[in-house]
Amino acid sequence: MTARQCEQQELADDSPDRTYTLTGPDGKPYQSATPGTLGGYKPRKIYGRLDCSSALRYLAKGQYARHRVFFADEETAIAAGYRPCARCMPERYRVWKEQQDRVGHLGAESQQPE
Ligand SMILES: [Zn+2]
Repeated sequence: MTARQCEQQELADDSPDRTYTLTGPDGKPYQSATPGTLGGYKPRKIYGRLDCSSALRYLAKGQYARHRVFFADEETAIAAGYRPCARCMPERYRVWKEQQDRVGHLGAESQQPE
C-alpha cells in the first residue's frame, strides 16, 4: 500500500456509514460509530491532538499512518498506557513528566511524605 492510499483512508472519515477503529483502555482495537478525539502513535505510545503538527508531518511523509491509532478520549489513552505528546499537549506532558519523576522518587526514597 502506498502512503497516498493511507492518507485517503484517513480523509474518508466523513462518510456516514463509516465505523472508526479506536483503541480501548486495554490497548486493543474496537469499532466505534463515533470518531476518536485524540490520535496516538503506537510504537512509542504517545497520544496527542488529531491536528498535532508533529503527527501531521509524519503523516505527510507516509511513515506514520499505519502506526496511527485513535482514542475516544484522554482517559482511554492514559488507561492504554499512552503518554501525552510534548509538542501539541505541553501542559499535559509537563504534568505527566512530574508524575513520572514522583513515581521514580517513591521507588527510591520511601521516606517521602504523602
Ligand atoms: Zn503532538
